[in-house]
Amino acid sequence: MAIVNPEFANEIIQYGAKDFKACFNCGTCTAICNLTEKNANFPRIFIRKGILGQKDEILQSKELWLCYACGDCSVNCPRQAAPGEYMAAMRRYAIAGYEPTGLTKLIFKSNPLSIVITLLLAMVLGFFLFTMKPEMEVARWIFKYLPYEIIHTMGLIIFSFTALSMVWGMLAMIFKLRKIAPKESKTKTSFFKALSAVIAEMAMMKRYRVCDEEEDSFWLKKPLMMRPWAVHWAIMWGFIGLLIGTALDFAFKDPATTYWLPSRLLGTIAGILLVYGASMAIIYRRKKITRTYQQTTLADQMLLFFLWIAGITGFWLEVAVFIDADTIVNHIVFVIHTIISMELVLLFAFSKFAHAIYRPIALFFYNNS
Ligand code: SF4
Ligand code: SF4
Repeated sequence: MAIVNPEFANEIIQYGAKDFKACFNCGTCTAICNLTEKNANFPRIFIRKGILGQKDEILQSKELWLCYACGDCSVNCPRQAAPGEYMAAMRRYAIAGYEPTGLTKLIFKSNPLSIVITLLLAMVLGFFLFTMKPEMEVARWIFKYLPYEIIHTMGLIIFSFTALSMVWGMLAMIFKLRKIAPKESKTKTSFFKALSAVIAEMAMMKRYRVCDEEEDSFWLKKPLMMRPWAVHWAIMWGFIGLLIGTALDFAFKDPATTYWLPSRLLGTIAGILLVYGASMAIIYRRKKITRTYQQTTLADQMLLFFLWIAGITGFWLEVAVFIDADTIVNHIVFVIHTIISMELVLLFAFSKFAHAIYRPIALFFYNNS
């Protein structure tokens, strides 16, 4: 007989699940979900796993990542057990479970701690930034009290720590998914089929669109660019584009005022996408426009806010450079922009952001099995 694990059920509530223990296993949620398939029976099955405390099975699940949190199942649940919110909480649990340091657990479970960690990180990154501009007056003042070498080394340690945590998390997930993957030998065709499914999803959100384009969807009558999949797409490609643009800019040392260079053009287009996507996502959450946008956490909201600030300050600096405005205000905006951008990269391993890595991995395994 299966044994109920109330401790684990309570833990999942700390990750944002609502009253999922009210579930009486009717199966409406699974029937209603457009993304569930015969070999990916969710969300009902995950509620059972949670109630039984089957932690390993949750971490070994690729199906968990097939849900896009559209909220249809929650709207139709006769027991108000909020299965959509429950799936999102499970993904937070999985992100925290793959990440080795325990930092993600703290960020997801405690709002005050997530604020303290974010502020501390911003302070350290601010100091680290000054080690790259030691000629600045503020930097000289700081170095009187805190040696340059200590701050610089700390910054490098924090960056390495994040990179290692992310790599560890990815390997942990792959290891767990491989453990339960069917043993028969995979063909090259299934490998490329799985890879093309991941690429199609990233390029055009093929699966996510299914949620927004069904007959009775609230979004069906809205313009394409307002739909959640398009907002998600804009944020994702905006961020990726900015990362590539910044790397190209850094590698080729493009002159700051040359706007027609590919890295600059890419940065501008990516910046527009990012600001658009982040603004829409923030507005939808504030208005709680659909069930999806009611199920947000402070950590998720902070992430969106950081993305928005990074985009807006980036444009501010572009204009400042263009009109050659070397003012104190623009220096402050530069410091904010750089700290937030570095913070975003660092939080990648320890926030909802990590789903950008875990979802494609899960999708690959799902299509390759
Ligand atoms: S979560 Fe709700 S809809 Fe899904 S099985 Fe439980 S009671 Fe039924
Ligand atoms: S939130 Fe949407 S995609 Fe996720 S399980 Fe519910 S209906 Fe399916």
